[in-house]
Amino acid sequence: MTDTLEYWTQRADELKFEGRAFINGQYQDAQSGETFPNRSPIDNRLLTDVAACDSADADLTVRHARAAFDDGRWSQLPPAKRKSILLRFAALVKKHGEELALLETLDMGKPISDARNVDIPATSRSLQWSAEAIDKLYDEIAPTGPGELGLVSREAVGVVAAIVPWNFPMIMASWKIGPALAMGNSVILKPSEKSPLSALRLAALAKEAGIPDGVFNVLPGFGHTVGKALALHMDVDTLVFTGSTAIAKQLMIYAGESNMKRVWTEAGGKSPNVVFADAPDLSAAAKAAAEGICFNMGEVCTAGSRLLVEASIADEFMAEVLSAVQGWKPGNPLDPATNVGAIVDETQLKRVQSYIDTGKTQGARLSSGGNRADSVDGGFFMEPTVFEDVTRDMTIFKEEIFGPVLSVTRFTDEADALAIANDSIYGLAAAVWTSNLSRAHRFARGLRAGSVWVNQWDGGDMTAPFGGYKQSGNGRDKSLHAFDKYSEIKATWIKL
Ligand code: NAD
Ligand code: MN
Repeated sequence: MTDTLEYWTQRADELKFEGRAFINGQYQDAQSGETFPNRSPIDNRLLTDVAACDSADADLTVRHARAAFDDGRWSQLPPAKRKSILLRFAALVKKHGEELALLETLDMGKPISDARNVDIPATSRSLQWSAEAIDKLYDEIAPTGPGELGLVSREAVGVVAAIVPWNFPMIMASWKIGPALAMGNSVILKPSEKSPLSALRLAALAKEAGIPDGVFNVLPGFGHTVGKALALHMDVDTLVFTGSTAIAKQLMIYAGESNMKRVWTEAGGKSPNVVFADAPDLSAAAKAAAEGICFNMGEVCTAGSRLLVEASIADEFMAEVLSAVQGWKPGNPLDPATNVGAIVDETQLKRVQSYIDTGKTQGARLSSGGNRADSVDGGFFMEPTVFEDVTRDMTIFKEEIFGPVLSVTRFTDEADALAIANDSIYGLAAAVWTSNLSRAHRFARGLRAGSVWVNQWDGGDMTAPFGGYKQSGNGRDKSLHAFDKYSEIKATWIKL
């Protein structure tokens, strides 16, 4: 029986954790010997101590990654060979899916059902997709005159550092390491200090799959120390990042201060979900609005955190949204029936609470939730929260909360809706619900966002690019576009 709280509680009690860094094919302590405690947000229990890597460990790891790249043990393999090893890696993620899911749940608090049914398959699929693509990417021959041959070829960039967040630790990592490794780069993965455990476990699976030593390394660290060291390193060629806009900006500065490494960022969001009176199915829209802010405790870069509703239907529609939100209840994440887990840590919980206080102070109407929940002793849980009458000058309209807090604003017509939707420094995702085909296309074109969903929230798979406009970042993860981050383009001119 794997679908009971007892089963997962027992597995959690038996689980062994790896907290050491993975450098050049070996688990090892930080050279300083320093560690930091990793506690679970479910009940604040100590899971394990984790290596607190610093710039000395970054230097060592970059040297190994560079040596591996230069001697060609991975970078010079035929793409089909890299493909088969990465496919093995993807299969091992599935094979160890229960353990990896449990690590994710214990480390960052998401419901075990989501970890198993969303994070594991998505991680495995992502690695698989990049692997399968790599021996199908052709280069180009330039349209030259008869006296010359112009070759346009992609080459691996070299050493890639990937700094990732805690909300989907493995999925975010896989969006980077899949295409980076497939392309032939050496990779140094820097997980968040709030969720290092699954990345550290992945390292052993990568080795088991056949990825040579030095090619895939994992460096945990506390705070900014090791991430900053990688970002400032003179021998890291490319830095890929998913995380907050504030840190994304900082990384661009570090690159400018060091070797002008390429910096690709997937950053914050405050995504508008726009519901017109002529939506094909208002009940479906109401359910999606609730899910869009409650799923993963609202700790989602594409959370539908701004709900914009046409005024003529707003009262009825909001009644449906509020009733749908009631179906999302904080509970023990180890219980497979739970759909709202713990907030990642106390700091984040306090941050969410302070946004709720600001919402009240600035005059938004609290129509659901607003309080801490006590689902498990010692844990950090928050009720899904809905604010109505939110205006464009309010903090909760403007800032990313990264928690289960929905801001609802009414609009009068299409032009009004588009202006409100685009009134953000962010441009990650947006949705529009309407039966009017012309309006759907017009509105989708008008939205300044990297992903636009029509009559659904959160569509997409590995086949479509994902990334942001404006301060939500640059470049794209997923799809063939993702390879742009991990390759240089070389023009070779041959005189015939
Ligand atoms: P964060 O920016 O605080 O941290 C992200 C990573 O950067 C962590 O690994 C952290 O240790 C590291 N870091 C922190 N300071 C650093 C520094 N000075 N130098 C180098 N590295 C440093 O973000 P977070 O709290 O982990 O994640 C939440 C944020 O991530 C939200 O803003 C969310 O929108 C964003 N996010 C974006 C996407 C996307 O695809 N656009 C996906 C998921 C999360
Ligand atoms: Mn944690």
